[in-house]
Amino acid sequence: MSRYLSKRYTSLEAYVPGEQPSDMKYIKLNTNESPFPPSPGVLSAICEEEVKNLRLYPNPDGIKLINKLAKLYEVKPKNIIIANGSDELLAFAFLAFFDDGVVFPDITYGFYPVYAELYGISYRQIPLSEDLTVNINDYIGISKNVVLANPNAPTGIVLGLDDIEKIAAGNPDHVVLIDEAYIDFGGKSAIELTHKYDNLLVIHTYSKSRSLAGARLAYAIASEAIIEDLGKMKYSFNPYNVGRLTQVLGAAALDDEAYFIEKRKEIIAVREHTEERLRELGFTMTSSCANFIFARHHGISGAELYSGLKEKGILVRHWNKSRISDYVRITVGTGEQMDILIAAITELL
Ligand code: PMP
Repeated sequence: MSRYLSKRYTSLEAYVPGEQPSDMKYIKLNTNESPFPPSPGVLSAICEEEVKNLRLYPNPDGIKLINKLAKLYEVKPKNIIIANGSDELLAFAFLAFFDDGVVFPDITYGFYPVYAELYGISYRQIPLSEDLTVNINDYIGISKNVVLANPNAPTGIVLGLDDIEKIAAGNPDHVVLIDEAYIDFGGKSAIELTHKYDNLLVIHTYSKSRSLAGARLAYAIASEAIIEDLGKMKYSFNPYNVGRLTQVLGAAALDDEAYFIEKRKEIIAVREHTEERLRELGFTMTSSCANFIFARHHGISGAELYSGLKEKGILVRHWNKSRISDYVRITVGTGEQMDILIAAITELL
């Protein structure tokens, strides 16, 4: 830390992303990326002309992409904003809406408390139930801003749309932010509820089900007024936050719906098969509707499993945090990657 750092940030604990090794010697099952490349249409969208156009700034609103997203989700373009990953949209939302504090589960995406700390927002972490599910009664009628990942991370457990609706309806004077980074792998999106609830803000990312984590692209869907407020944050921070190529790739990905559906199906099938094999080995796990499995074994600690797998060239995620330190989170890879994982775990056990 330099002696110049603002006093406000001296005790700030930054978010620690999962390991991103620069060589490819690991099977990477630690940051919930897709094991599949982006769709063929995405690959062919990077043509010479688009590269030459990089001399120009991007359209700051990403209007072509927004129009496509609007069609897909049956909302108006004014109900959508795009950004440099959902992390950036979360940053805009925390900045814009949470003056009187925010609540989220004690076990959830680790960035939420970091944003709250960064912006000096008061927050309360509501404990998940013993079985790591969200108890929705903790969130209804509490007159608080709410942030929920649905499916939750790292548990993968999903809430139904009726529950999300109760939470949105139960806090009409506060923003209810639903982070749907993993919704394509199991749950039902709350986007359709944004027509009915002007306090509901839904965030989606291209990083998981669209195989574009490296492009950094996400979008939020909400009432026009909420989107306008998020736009105000963006235009007060970084108007050209989504690069030209990323906008082009994002649009191309939407044109390849068949590829998206096929790969999503494959990931779900591999998840279910891997869960079965882990169960046979004596693991227990949460009921995941995401592209990862959150599992533990009575015979080996989460830390041992993490480091044992790393030695064997497989990266998974482990948190040294109370209630979940027994678990590891395993991203669902290809069938072959999961075969290697199961063989490695069998040896470790
Ligand atoms: N929300 C959740 C729940 C996540 O797990 C992640 C991935 N780390 C993100 C948001 C951020 O995703 P991105 O910025 O790549 O869109």
